[in-house]
Amino acid sequence: MDILWILWTIPAVIAVEETLMDSTTATAELGWTVYPVSGSSDNSWEEVSGYDENMNTIRTYQVCNVFDNNQNNWVRTKYIRRRGAQRIHVEMKFSVRDCSSIPNVPGSCKETFNLYYYESDADTATRNSPAWMENPWIKVDTIAADESFSQVDLGGRVMKINTEVRSFDYNMIQYAFQDYGGCMSLIAVRVFYRKCPRIITNGALFQETLSGAESTSLVAARGVCIPNAEEVDVPIKLYCNGDGEWMVPIGRCMCKAGNEAVENGTVCRACPSGFFKPTQGDEACMQCPINSRTTSEGAINCVCRNGYYRTDSDPLQMPCTTVPSAPQTVISSVNETSVMLEWMPPRDSGGREDVVFNIICKSCGGGRGGCTRCGDNVQFLPRQLGLTETRVYISDLLAHTQYTFEVQAVNGVSDQSPYSPQYASVNITTNQAAPSTVSIMHQVSRTPDSITLSWSQPDQPNGVILDYELQYYEKDQPEINATAIRSPTNTVVIRNLKPGSIYVFQVRARTVAGFGRYSGKLYFQTMTEEEYNTSIQEKLPLIIGSAAAGLVFLIAVVVIIIVCNRRRGFDRADSEYTDKLQHYTSGHMTPGMKIYIDPFTYEDPNEAVREFAKEIDISCVKIEQVIGAGEFGEVCSGNLKLPGKREMFVAIKTLKSGYTEKQRRDFLSEASIMGQFDHPNVIHLEGVVTKSSPVMIVTEFMENGSLDSFLRQNDGQFTVIQLVGMLRGIASGMKYLSDMNYVHRDLAARNILVNSNLVCKVSDFGLSRFLEDDTSDPTYTSALGGKIPIRWTAPEAIQYRKFTSASDVWSYGIVMWEVMSYGERPYWDMTNQDVINAIEQDYRLPPPMDCPSALHQLMLDCWQKDRNNRPKFSQIVNNLDKMIRNPNTLKAMTPLSSGVHLPLLDRSIPDFSSFSTVDEWLDAIKMGQYKDNFANADFSTFDVVSQMTMDDILRVGVTLAGHQKKILNSVQMMRAQMNQITSVEV
Ligand code: AMP
Repeated sequence: MDILWILWTIPAVIAVEETLMDSTTATAELGWTVYPVSGSSDNSWEEVSGYDENMNTIRTYQVCNVFDNNQNNWVRTKYIRRRGAQRIHVEMKFSVRDCSSIPNVPGSCKETFNLYYYESDADTATRNSPAWMENPWIKVDTIAADESFSQVDLGGRVMKINTEVRSFDYNMIQYAFQDYGGCMSLIAVRVFYRKCPRIITNGALFQETLSGAESTSLVAARGVCIPNAEEVDVPIKLYCNGDGEWMVPIGRCMCKAGNEAVENGTVCRACPSGFFKPTQGDEACMQCPINSRTTSEGAINCVCRNGYYRTDSDPLQMPCTTVPSAPQTVISSVNETSVMLEWMPPRDSGGREDVVFNIICKSCGGGRGGCTRCGDNVQFLPRQLGLTETRVYISDLLAHTQYTFEVQAVNGVSDQSPYSPQYASVNITTNQAAPSTVSIMHQVSRTPDSITLSWSQPDQPNGVILDYELQYYEKDQPEINATAIRSPTNTVVIRNLKPGSIYVFQVRARTVAGFGRYSGKLYFQTMTEEEYNTSIQEKLPLIIGSAAAGLVFLIAVVVIIIVCNRRRGFDRADSEYTDKLQHYTSGHMTPGMKIYIDPFTYEDPNEAVREFAKEIDISCVKIEQVIGAGEFGEVCSGNLKLPGKREMFVAIKTLKSGYTEKQRRDFLSEASIMGQFDHPNVIHLEGVVTKSSPVMIVTEFMENGSLDSFLRQNDGQFTVIQLVGMLRGIASGMKYLSDMNYVHRDLAARNILVNSNLVCKVSDFGLSRFLEDDTSDPTYTSALGGKIPIRWTAPEAIQYRKFTSASDVWSYGIVMWEVMSYGERPYWDMTNQDVINAIEQDYRLPPPMDCPSALHQLMLDCWQKDRNNRPKFSQIVNNLDKMIRNPNTLKAMTPLSSGVHLPLLDRSIPDFSSFSTVDEWLDAIKMGQYKDNFANADFSTFDVVSQMTMDDILRVGVTLAGHQKKILNSVQMMRAQMNQITSVEV
């Protein structure tokens, strides 16, 4: 460890001298002991009165026996108490006669004298003790005069006075001055010791301290911080040297925050009001910066005035700042579906230099009047938020759409102000634009003379896509020879190609605004005849169902197949896809409409994952907790933070470890399917994690989980309109899926997820539960060719696996029933076989409690035996929309059937539209006896009859309860049939 010694300065302070004895202050005789005795023949030291330099009377000792040899004259002070001092100083003032100035002086004349001391704990000296000689006396020094004088004048006027100091570190008690033959006068003797004085230095107080015994000894003294100061370096020390001087300062104290050093650093004073000092130190208090003030004395900072703020990183010396005003003069220039916005900086930056701009994009007038935030697909260059420049380029807007852009000015304190951000807005309308480029194209299959390609819809169709144009040419041929073919869908079979040849393909989409740009070139190769024959042979055992078939039969089959295929221009190798492709491309499709592609039609299903699901780096995913169990592993909730995007809450399906390659494929197939969908009522795929373990599917998070359990937990809590709103969402999601030619096959409340806004989304696109080998879930009953959820499945799908959007509509009717009964199990505890039988005999589920008849009627429509008579999802959406717009239609309730199990509703009520008059209809429902009653009350057209209520039925004179119910049921049926007709017309 490094030790840093910091030496602080100490002010020059004069050492304190403490006098123990001073001959000059004696008011009477000094009475020191003289040897030989004064006045004797030896003529020793003699006490004489005199004057000092200031003419004060003093007592002195003098001796002048220069003419006698062997002088040995002593004068001894009185006993001097040491008073704890360790080092004693003796100051002697004396004068000495210059021997040479004395006429005839013998050679024994001295100009020096000796100083001795004697140590004793008590005053034990007598006239003869200690003996007058060195040892016992200890000689300190022989004292010589700096200047001697030549004329004796003891009046002091011409005398040269010398001053000598000797210091001792011994315990000493008495002094003796020995003359051994000089002529001198001891004018003053002072004995003293020194102390280091009380001092305030370096922010600390040091008490008076006695110096040490030797001149070199240092006595350490501890300092104490003065009030409002705190130690900076410890220990806080000074050393007192032998001369009573402070030295070697170590450590120091400094005034605390809010206090400054005044009076030469001896006082720490609180900062006065309007001033502050943020830290401990030597600095002075500072004046509060602009827009701030103190609330008391001794402030360590100044608080901002109202409306002014500081960020965490703003220095306290910086003025408080405020939010910027709005940007000025926003100018827009629209180019097709892009716009450049430019603006002037705000007039007032709020006093800061960190003003940046955010762009808020809203698309307006999308049919619903209000404005909604633009989606993620709109591009901002250089970026949308935190712009430092005053311009932004916005692209990928929708064509022919009105937008409002708000340009917000924000700075470092905007988030603290309730009035921020200020913004300037601009409205623009985009122009017509051609569709964007098709970015993804893949090969579905190939033969020696054909290639089947499929591609995704452009990200920005910018209108309704009328069709696609595919251009292709042989790789080695010039592009000018390219052939162009049109396709109303995004899948096309290109025929009459050369075997084993590479072709270059490009595709572009067309709207009323014209063609978009061609996609990048992609190269696909037709099969060689050899490859083709090999593939046929590999498939033959499958085709004929037995590998044991005879060789002749095998050759015959090969020949037949090849001949047939060639003749029809149709390749058998295509067949495993062709069935599906025909299925995708048949039906009433909107041209350009995106079509669902079964991931299993890919030669390599991993390619489907790559094409439809975005790969997410595992570092972006943070798993928080397990929320459920899925087919393949745990389902968790967590967070997803993609670079440049806001963190979002997500659901994460994981694939448990130890999976087979097939399980991995099946697991990820759900992502390949989900990734093709983009609809507010279909669960949204965020992406997949396939490059690390565990493999994951990341989707948007649905706070309320699956619909069936959500409803059970909230039994009876929602209004009918809320329930219909949920049903409308599910129908809308299903309409989207059916428009894409996707058949769900497992539509049920358990496969609908609900978010915190009660928005329902269709989910569960996994296929594995239909597989035979999964026996874990009793909901799915084994049937020929896979497993089936009997209670939710249309009869034709149960019987001969005819799964279509119409069979999804049947399931939707069951979901309606589940919703209106708050998650009741369809057909309660009836066995699957009982359910199949009941349905076969035209029994249907009765209306749940409090279910409006219009809704039950819609359920019954979904459960039409003939699938062609079932409404389409678009009609269901329209129907539900009408109910939501006109809630009165939801008032009428069908009375609840009595038993829980039976009867299911009799669906034998005939369709009114097969009769031309009300009378015929009454006959058909076996109520002919009321024909006159109806006619007399003017209920003679279907329009009026369809509006009849129970009151009307009573009024025409139907009094029997059974008849009332029969007529009411038939009237309701008529009304529903009419609605259905109306919605078909719509
Ligand atoms: P699944 O494998 O899709 O049937 O999911 C199993 C369970 O996990 C579901 O029943 C839900 O409770 C839950 N779950 C699945 N996906 C989500 C999601 N996106 N948001 C919230 N919960 C979900």
